[in-house]
Amino acid sequence: MLHNSFKPFILVSQKLRCTNFGLVVKHMLTKVEKCENLLHVSWKDSTKRTYPLVWLRDNCQCEKCFHPESKSRTLLLKEFDTHPAVSSCKVLNGTLSVAWSDGHKSAFNSDWLLLRGFDNESQRKRSEQVCSQKILWNSGLKENLPRSNFFSAINENESLVCWLKSLQKYGVAILENAPCKQGQVRILAHKIGFIKKTHYGEEFQVQAKDQPNNVAYTSTELQLHTDLPYYEYKPGVNILHCIAQDMTSAEKGENQLVDGFAVAENMRDKYPDAFKLLATTLVDWSDVGVDDSFTFNKVYRAPVFCQDITGQLIRINYSQPQRDSYFPGPLETVQDWYDALKLFCTMLYSEEYLVRLKLKPGDILIFDNRRVVHGRSGFGGGRHVEGAYIDWDEINSRLRVLEFGI
Ligand SMILES: [Zn+2]
Repeated sequence: MLHNSFKPFILVSQKLRCTNFGLVVKHMLTKVEKCENLLHVSWKDSTKRTYPLVWLRDNCQCEKCFHPESKSRTLLLKEFDTHPAVSSCKVLNGTLSVAWSDGHKSAFNSDWLLLRGFDNESQRKRSEQVCSQKILWNSGLKENLPRSNFFSAINENESLVCWLKSLQKYGVAILENAPCKQGQVRILAHKIGFIKKTHYGEEFQVQAKDQPNNVAYTSTELQLHTDLPYYEYKPGVNILHCIAQDMTSAEKGENQLVDGFAVAENMRDKYPDAFKLLATTLVDWSDVGVDDSFTFNKVYRAPVFCQDITGQLIRINYSQPQRDSYFPGPLETVQDWYDALKLFCTMLYSEEYLVRLKLKPGDILIFDNRRVVHGRSGFGGGRHVEGAYIDWDEINSRLRVLEFGI
């Protein structure tokens, strides 16, 4: 993850990368050598790769081991020998042929092998397809928010790819000039994949309601938070379409956005003990109630900062209304944990990090619900925002399909 303390961005205008990893044009395979449990393979242009025998046997592409239509491995693991022996191997017409000592035969295509190298360069290329690079930001993003036209995004794949890649990198992006009527969030979501349904429905209308079952459905200030921390499978991305907004006041009904990962990384640097408390203390996040006659009692137990096995932040849970009064403890760290949480809150609201922006009718704001902490100021009558969620699985998949095919 890059930390960008602040420099100008080049965003939606950036050139699309057209690298298609499915169409590698390389020289032919020329040579193969076996060495213990490895095969060393050479190409005509001197490229060399090394493959473990166990991996080659596991990835045999024959019809007994691999189902071509579903592109799925069908080899039975319960019958699989993890120490396969080779009786012979050779390169024939650019294809690697392996005869195994149990009589099975495998053939591996040159490009297929090359794409699956265990060397750093091959692994880096694959990681580019699988893991998106994030650029952290502070309040300076306000002048550089990734923006695109709604109709371009839904009608032109190139525009959709550019815009979604900005969303991957920065965790926030805006589409402008959408029609000011309900239904646009569904059109957009269906261009990418499909809406993530929650107990608030598929689309939801954010406006002051007579008997609100969620604080979002009032006209008061909504303090900074992430949505639905009480879901184990929390929606990845929020889509908020501003249908109506009183534009006579600059402050009323403005949205507030903070890069939670940037603030958390700053905490990790400056206040490591506070960071550790927020990353290791379990919290109960909950939501109980009724929506559209569906009764729910959701609880998810997780820290404020969730990290992967490398220590990289993958999810922030942060919601004052949806933090349960049940506290898993331990008792001895409760005071310090509250101090750490308050410090995080103070940093989120600091001028260094907080972006305030007022959506105009027709704007669709999209942001990463695992990363970006959001809120809004109080508003008068007439504000109407239609919202929906979509998961990162669908966005990342659409991007790979559009960029690389299947
Ligand atoms: Zn096979």
